[in-house]
Amino acid sequence: MSEKTKVLIIGSGPAGYTAAIYAARAGLKPVLFTGGQPGGQLTTTNDVENFPGYPEGINGPQMMIDLQKQAERFGTVINYGLVTGVDFSGYPHKVTVDENRTVEAEAVIIATGASAKYLGLPSEEKYANRGVSACAVCDGYFYRGKEVAVVGAGDSAAEESTYLSKLCTKVHLIVRREEMRASKIMQQRVLNTPNIEIHWNSETEEVLGDDQGVNGVRVRNNKTGEKKVIPIQGFFLAIGHKPNTDIFKGQLDMDEAGYLKVTPGSTHTNVEGVFAVGDVADKVYRQAVTAAGSGCMGALDAEKFLAAREMEMAHS
Ligand code: NDP
Repeated sequence: MSEKTKVLIIGSGPAGYTAAIYAARAGLKPVLFTGGQPGGQLTTTNDVENFPGYPEGINGPQMMIDLQKQAERFGTVINYGLVTGVDFSGYPHKVTVDENRTVEAEAVIIATGASAKYLGLPSEEKYANRGVSACAVCDGYFYRGKEVAVVGAGDSAAEESTYLSKLCTKVHLIVRREEMRASKIMQQRVLNTPNIEIHWNSETEEVLGDDQGVNGVRVRNNKTGEKKVIPIQGFFLAIGHKPNTDIFKGQLDMDEAGYLKVTPGSTHTNVEGVFAVGDVADKVYRQAVTAAGSGCMGALDAEKFLAAREMEMAHS
């Protein structure tokens, strides 16, 4: 037997919770499935300094706890479950949770976000959770007093290196070009931190280790061809993210990178009654505040869609 709901929200980052707050306050009694990382990407960051309304900044995980409480306060039902499949071919829409539970929904708001990318090296996989991590804030503590490396050159790499520099004796930042794409202010922080060493034009060839876990990384200078081994105990990836859209393949329109396509200026996907909000449909801005804003749009779009349907049914 399927469970039934009016509005089903997939994902629990700022986009999902904001959609829940708005849908709940509109009396739609939304049901939200958190996914595998309750709270989303902000649970892997420390201070969020750019969310309006927090002059002193706010701790990412705390912000997500607050958003969850706010969504629950208005009647959102939060479920700790992973949506493993969807069927948008008929109506109502069908969603499978944890492989064995089916929920039918009149409107679905997708807020599944994006996940950290890896380089794709076999050695990276071999040492996963034994020295390789894609989240400095989650795992940095385990490497206090040790030497680590961070790969990447964007704001994440800058932020994670700076964060790790406070815990670790030394941070090696491995940058594949001769410049970073991180914002000037974040680059400046990196350059002003004495225990961060930047390895320019460097590509990771292999993560090295033994039974104890990671003990080094071999990098190659792509200008000179020179190779060197940097002794480290922790290897952190900060090379961007991939949208979490695998379960929607073949059902929803997406771009070449897998981001869901929406009608510009709205959250409508190509399927009626299915809305996409937050990073899953945004490869440009990717901010907590823009995700929250689009979560609000998704709830308003869903509300309008449901009201129009009800009107149609009443007149038919
Ligand atoms: P980005 O996509 O901005 O940057 C990814 C970085 O990883 C690039 O510098 C890229 O190099 C490098 N890279 C990609 N693939 C590889 C590879 N195979 N080997 C080596 N290097 C690689 O991702 P971020 O996660 O840094 O940032 C995403 C968004 O989030 C941005 O808009 C950013 O501004 C924002 N952000 C904001 C923060 C804040 O304001 N506090 C904190 C963190 C992120 P290349 O430059 O050569 O392409």
